[in-house]
Amino acid sequence: MIYSQLILKINLIELWLVQELTQLKLSVHSKMEKKPKEEGRPHCLVLSFPLQGHINPMFQFSKRLKHAGIPRITLVTTKSFLKSVQNFSHPVEAISDGFDDGVPESVSPEVFIGRCSEYGSRTLAELVEKLRSSGSPADCVIYDPFYPWVLDVAQKFGLMTAVFFTQPNSVNCIYFNAYTGELKLPVLMEDGIRIIPGGFPVLDRSDLPSFIQDHESDPKRSEIMSEQFRNVERVDWVFVNTFHHLEQEVTDWMLKYMAMRTIGPTMPSMFLDKRIPHNRQYGLSIFTPITDPCFEWLDQQPVRSVVYVSFGSFAKPTVEQMHELALALKSVDRPFLWVVRASEESKLPTDYKEETRDTGLVVAWCPQLQVLEHEAVGCFVTHCGWNSTLEALSLGVPMVAMPQWSDQHTNAKFVEDVWRTGMRAKRDEKGLVGREEIVRCVKLVMEGEKEEEIMRSNSIKWKELARKAVDEGGSSDQNIQEFVSSLMRLKF
Ligand code: UDP
Repeated sequence: MIYSQLILKINLIELWLVQELTQLKLSVHSKMEKKPKEEGRPHCLVLSFPLQGHINPMFQFSKRLKHAGIPRITLVTTKSFLKSVQNFSHPVEAISDGFDDGVPESVSPEVFIGRCSEYGSRTLAELVEKLRSSGSPADCVIYDPFYPWVLDVAQKFGLMTAVFFTQPNSVNCIYFNAYTGELKLPVLMEDGIRIIPGGFPVLDRSDLPSFIQDHESDPKRSEIMSEQFRNVERVDWVFVNTFHHLEQEVTDWMLKYMAMRTIGPTMPSMFLDKRIPHNRQYGLSIFTPITDPCFEWLDQQPVRSVVYVSFGSFAKPTVEQMHELALALKSVDRPFLWVVRASEESKLPTDYKEETRDTGLVVAWCPQLQVLEHEAVGCFVTHCGWNSTLEALSLGVPMVAMPQWSDQHTNAKFVEDVWRTGMRAKRDEKGLVGREEIVRCVKLVMEGEKEEEIMRSNSIKWKELARKAVDEGGSSDQNIQEFVSSLMRLKF
């Protein structure tokens, strides 16, 4: 064989070998990717409480789990809630909360919780049975702590369990102390209270969650909130939508009592680490966002000039409070974008929208993440719902806190005094935040030289730490990977 023929032959053999090896590698790889164990397993059920502020973080967490390798995730909600949602494209199952035609306004939370537990336990057990007999059994249940009964159902079927707290650990810690009796209710104090030793700030009564503040007038509610910790010692995993740097000390304290893991911020990946392509939305909205008009308007405003105002999906400020806010926005001398849900619109002063057309835009709902990310937005007047707070922290937007109820008072305290990215507007003796106070806070956040500088540099700091927490190797990412690995190790 002449030399050139030999070289050609060797080249052909090399080519064949490369092709064979590539083929082999591809088939091994695709087997590993397509079939990690049994097709579609491990299979997680994710049970969220049917409120926007609970749905957003849990569903976004599901997307993280899917991205981290869990092949099958089924969202579980209530029949009545499913009827109210449009364009829902994810696999979903419904259980009953005992109010399949909607929860009547007259039903008290206690009655709702009781009935929900009875009907929910039964229909969840039926769902687990159904999935078993249809060949796609569940292996794990992740549930909202407002449904503590889920644990018993899941454990009866031998499933792995994970409870998902949608409130920050500073708030969880207060409820946990109320649950164990360490925090005596009613809270009688004049001089402030230190919930745990160390750097946790001394709290005034007005910094506590409203259900703890109001224990005397409504003891049942504070009990319901503390009940979130019922059985927590029997749960395999405890997840919290926060990140380690943000709540380091209190998280370490909680770890002594439960298998707690921080996994947040549970915001769509494209706003943080950008590792989940196209993930720019939570994906399930109760309200229809008014998108184009918001961005057409925002695009015309100067950089960091706009006051964005929203009190979330649930808060119902009084007519008087809405008027004070309306007049503050009229006189603050800044463009404003205000989310006023359709149910609240009648509380606006007459002709308000028309009168403020040149400086403001009032919409019934907006795509909040994109709005907060917009360069024109300079400040967020917020009720301090935990998702809104975490979104503002993660997107670097300073806040004016106007807490309304529930955990919002505590979140506002931390925004002002611990994370130092905003001002809390003070209430007068009637519990009202007056227009002058709102204007004062907005001006300090946006123009107060020293304050603005401190808040802006802290906002940048938290934004970076939030991204790092969920990015590869960050504290939340590691916790998610640890959970996914433990699921993958399950024997079917
Ligand atoms: N949100 C939104 N558009 C709005 C107002 C709010 O998309 O116009 C979203 C917001 O991004 C957040 C959620 O609704 O994720 C509200 O949750 P939060 O915990 O802040 O308040 P809640 O509605 O539970 O009081």
